[in-house]
Amino acid sequence: MSTAIPERLLLGPGPSNVSPRVLQALTTPILGHLDPAFLQVMDETMDLLRRVFRTRNELTIPISGTGSAGMEAAIVNMVEPGESMVVAIAGYFGERIAEMARRAGAEVVPARADWGTIVDLQAVEEAVRRSGARVIAAVHVETSTGILQPLPPLVDVARRYDALLLVDAVASLGGVPLDVDELGIDVCYSASQKCLSVPPGLAPLTASARARARMAERRTKVQSWYLDLSMLQTYWGTERIYHHTAPVTMIYGLREGLRLVVEEGLEARWERHRRAAQTLWQGLQRLGLRLYVPEEQRAPTLTTVAVPVGVDDLAVRRRLLQDHNIEIAGGLGPLRGKVFRIGLMGEGSTAGNVHTFLAAFDAALRAEGWRAA
Ligand SMILES: *Cc1c(COP(=O)(O)O)cnc(C)c1O
Repeated sequence: MSTAIPERLLLGPGPSNVSPRVLQALTTPILGHLDPAFLQVMDETMDLLRRVFRTRNELTIPISGTGSAGMEAAIVNMVEPGESMVVAIAGYFGERIAEMARRAGAEVVPARADWGTIVDLQAVEEAVRRSGARVIAAVHVETSTGILQPLPPLVDVARRYDALLLVDAVASLGGVPLDVDELGIDVCYSASQKCLSVPPGLAPLTASARARARMAERRTKVQSWYLDLSMLQTYWGTERIYHHTAPVTMIYGLREGLRLVVEEGLEARWERHRRAAQTLWQGLQRLGLRLYVPEEQRAPTLTTVAVPVGVDDLAVRRRLLQDHNIEIAGGLGPLRGKVFRIGLMGEGSTAGNVHTFLAAFDAALRAEGWRAA
């Protein structure tokens, strides 16, 4: 059996391609997780994370685990069994939040949208008013559908009802304008492998003073020992008390990836993502394909395209991978077989990649029998 790993252009919903500088950082010698030299790496990583989240929150750390670990940490630390939590659900990841919250013993009150549209603000407000929930959760970029949920109105509802706002920024941090402090988000989490272009394995998370006050007044222990943020803070904060062995190599990689983000400049990076997405949307429409989400609700980091009638989406994706070395994804849940999902995240979000992709996609669709109208 061959052990050669192909080099792919990763244009799916994550992971994204990683810069050579990050790959190089992954070969840094291993240090003990309490070595003073490593503690300095941790401090730098936290500082960089604060700059990328645009926050001064002291509790700003990478959770050991993928984006779902960040999601679970946010949920289990902010709700206690029997409490209500409103979840804005516009797709697969909103449903995942709801499922985790139910497992944590919360009474989930969903505010649902049809797949492919954003959640209606009035539905969220009504759910909060009716349930008296003190926690609201929403997904910024819903990667299953490609919508971008506007956050300011949700913050407004959270403040008016004295609720905490949890935001899933897994597919937006580093790719879509997001300012945690200016908006007033209480808990925000992401993942290393999407718009930050670091391998999968870490979930950056930040929690506001309001969120920490809520943690302090809990009556029950956090159900997860591993994801207990108060305990994690005793390792990442000034006390440096061992909790679990830090994934040292991944933290080197994250630090380097965050340095790249800061060197480029957040605003320049957001603009790069916006422009690449515009080029992609225009190109797809020029080919005669239909975008699934209306333009004003579209996320720049993940685009859904309707699979043309009579075309087998799996065959097209297989062809893209085998003949062109390009990965994109198919639809999840109700959108299975109905859409292609194209990610332009982090390193991958360039005009050059868009042109490469459009030519390959056109060829693969035609090879699978598609004839543009
Ligand atoms: C990818 C993704 C997740 C899950 O992250 P994993 O790293 O796969 O655990 C959660 N939310 C959104 C919006 C995502 O795109």
